[in-house]
Amino acid sequence: MAKKDIDWSNLGFGYVKTDKRFVANYKNGAWDNGVITDDDKVVISECAGVLQYSQSCFEGMKAYTTENGHTVIFRPDMNASRMADSCRRLEMPVFPEDKFVEAIAETVRANEDWVPPYGSGASLYIRPYMFGSNPVIGVKPADEYQFRVFTTPVGPYFKGGAKPLTIKVSDFDRAAPHGTGHIKAGLNYAMSLHAIVTAHAEGYAENMYLDPATRTKVEETGGANFLFVTKDGKVVTPKSDSILPSITRRSLVHVAKEYLGLEVEEREVLFDEVKDFAECGLCGTAAVISPVGKIVDHGKEICLPSGMDEMGPVTKKLYETLTGIQMGRIEAPKGWIYTVD
Ligand SMILES: *Cc1c(COP(=O)(O)O)cnc(C)c1O
Repeated sequence: MAKKDIDWSNLGFGYVKTDKRFVANYKNGAWDNGVITDDDKVVISECAGVLQYSQSCFEGMKAYTTENGHTVIFRPDMNASRMADSCRRLEMPVFPEDKFVEAIAETVRANEDWVPPYGSGASLYIRPYMFGSNPVIGVKPADEYQFRVFTTPVGPYFKGGAKPLTIKVSDFDRAAPHGTGHIKAGLNYAMSLHAIVTAHAEGYAENMYLDPATRTKVEETGGANFLFVTKDGKVVTPKSDSILPSITRRSLVHVAKEYLGLEVEEREVLFDEVKDFAECGLCGTAAVISPVGKIVDHGKEICLPSGMDEMGPVTKKLYETLTGIQMGRIEAPKGWIYTVD
């Protein structure tokens, strides 16, 4: 084993082709066993279901090296079950959850040299995904599917400290009531691109989406769940059927209750309440928590008391505890850390 000669700490978040990937095919009502391959090219019909009607879903998680030198993955069983939910909602065949976890582990093992060393802040991002692969022209689910897993090394999310973000309340909607907001479907991202390009052009880092039905409740951003802290130190996170159930957010809720002894409320959060919160963060695999310093609602600024220089104190404790658990410095709840080597 020889680690790749990469300046890990200065890697960004972009696709870097690694050596191996996993591919399985679904045909005649069954999945094949799947293989690890060198071939990074996908060859499908010009009329493939995914190309015509966007029948696809994906997952995202990370492998990294712990303090004592093990290669581990954080809660891959949660990604397996979420991907199964995505598949069911999109009329796609579930790739069995135990096989999903095995495929992830096998792909990481095959790319062991690409797993960044402990302390670099970098990690090996894992991208499982599935798509309809046979020709579909009349609108219906495909009959054949491909499930793939590739990995790509990504750098530390925060280089030189986590600077609080400024975000805006979006005029666009991310997810319809009773729609697909709760699953990790590529289509949710396709329709969010215009909204995020617009927000970036206006100088904002992210969009805060409100519930489309009433536009009074906080939902999430394009790719991260919200976590708020009240002035008396309670953690509050929005509950809605159209939010993607972030594994990071659910893990942080557990950490808040069980490790930090904080009170946690998972409930509807009115946008009107946001001005009274002390801290705000965005939760997702990429950053764990990105602090938010300012939220702009059509020119009206909400400045979080935690300010624009650093994470709020509760956000910081949550961040440090969860990353400590991930890196093996703090004892993890049973089943959270999947050892690959
Ligand atoms: C993936 C994703 C998240 C974050 O989920 P994690 O499991 O924590 O990575 C949040 N919101 C949306 C819309 C997502 O697609």
